[in-house]
Amino acid sequence: MARNSRNKEDLNLRHVVDAQFEEAAALLKEPRGLLEQIKQCDSILQVNFPVKFGNGISYFSGWRAEHSHHRKPLKGGIRFNPHVTQDEVVALAALMTYKCAIVDVPFGGSKGGVVIDVRQYKEADLQRITRRYTSELISKNFLGPGVNVPAPDMGTGEREMAWIFDTYDTFFPGGIDNLACVTGKPVSQGGIRGRKEATGRGVHFGIRQAFRHTKDIQALGLDPGLAGKTVSIQGFGNVGFHCSRFLWEEGCKIVAIGEHDGTIHNPDGFNIVKLAKYRKSHGTILGFPGSKTLLDPQAALTIKCDILIPAALENQITLANVDRVRAKIVAEAANGPVTPAAEKKLLRRGVYIIPDIFLNSGGVTVSYFEWSKNLAHIRYGRMERQLESVRGDRLVNYLESARGRAIPQKDREMLIHGADEEDLVNSGLEETMVNAYEEIRSTFKRRKKVSSLRCAAYITAIQKICTSYRALGIFP
Ligand code: NAD
Repeated sequence: MARNSRNKEDLNLRHVVDAQFEEAAALLKEPRGLLEQIKQCDSILQVNFPVKFGNGISYFSGWRAEHSHHRKPLKGGIRFNPHVTQDEVVALAALMTYKCAIVDVPFGGSKGGVVIDVRQYKEADLQRITRRYTSELISKNFLGPGVNVPAPDMGTGEREMAWIFDTYDTFFPGGIDNLACVTGKPVSQGGIRGRKEATGRGVHFGIRQAFRHTKDIQALGLDPGLAGKTVSIQGFGNVGFHCSRFLWEEGCKIVAIGEHDGTIHNPDGFNIVKLAKYRKSHGTILGFPGSKTLLDPQAALTIKCDILIPAALENQITLANVDRVRAKIVAEAANGPVTPAAEKKLLRRGVYIIPDIFLNSGGVTVSYFEWSKNLAHIRYGRMERQLESVRGDRLVNYLESARGRAIPQKDREMLIHGADEEDLVNSGLEETMVNAYEEIRSTFKRRKKVSSLRCAAYITAIQKICTSYRALGIFP
């Protein structure tokens, strides 16, 4: 059992996820056997593989966990990180199962990981490692459009997903559905517009929906509406960057950002687009003009703000720092960033926690759209865009002649714009996040003894998976 000796706190993510599951399961009248079937990880593949670099050979370890086969294929990201462990991969696979159920994405949960510090390797070496890991997954039947479909996670992105697809395609030449073996690919390789931003955009939609409940927000001592709210973010990677950009565009003030090498702070807020450009040219966010640089990467967690968004790693808000957290809302963009003990303290203080299993599910939602697109072999909007545009144009002409005056340009553009792939993806994502938030919030408000939005989210997930197992005839 991994323990933080100072605080005697269990930081093993697998134990954390199991404990969260049990809290919710205790409130349900489901048979223990069925609950156990849902909770346990169905299969775990461990691989140790060699990769040749120049004259030497290095060995790598990795895993792919398949948590639940109640729906197929299984779905979940691949993490490249030096600290990844089997327990972490299993826990993240379980979170994927619950996440998919919450947002009604018809997949079981999976996750993969390779122990590697990507900063130590050149692109060509990373490609070799990714391809070799992919071959291991293929040879053990842990990869395929109807079997198991990976996506990006920490340390991986579009580039790695394209390598995974190409490796799979080499093993199965001519496979008509090969593109659907992995999601999060570049658009030029069967990816979908909006996937790269999807998790961050989903985080934005989820927080925005919470703010639509005026009474909930006023109960936290906050004014309704997102504009002007102060936000501190840990992690300026894929998820952290995109959610900070969307929140900034909505009028939030991003007052602090923490990265692996330190934190930047500016009470007046950052221009996120300029900050991203600065990072690209300097290789770090530290020293961004107008900001104060703090060398502690964890400082972003304890800066005073309305909304704190951990968007980097698990176990970031623990007993060691929870008393210094000064946010009214903790919005979990990362997986497992708050430990159960820290969560209890936050809840007691009236902090509102929007849980990971709901909030970061935008990625898997849009991955589902990408997988469906790959199997349909046609881009969303391709058949109807022109038709919608012509209809809109006729409607505008009719309205203008009936009113005897022109429609304002902005409204005209909106009416004659036929929805393209990105519009449809974003619309589907927003619909999903809004509905899922309402469902878990209603469980939270309606059911007795539900201590948190997280517990409500688990209840929602477990109930849906139980229904699925019953429909399969596996459990009475
Ligand atoms: P990423 O690798 O793109 O970004 C992570 C960022 O965190 C990097 O910029 C890294 O430098 C930074 N970081 C590392 N250690 C840090 C530290 N100690 N303090 C502050 N920053 C640190 O990864 P990502 O895809 O943005 O994933 C971030 C989190 O979101 C993970 O928990 C991941 O599981 C979760 N998530 C990602 C997706 C997705 O679609 N990418 C989907 C769901 C959940």
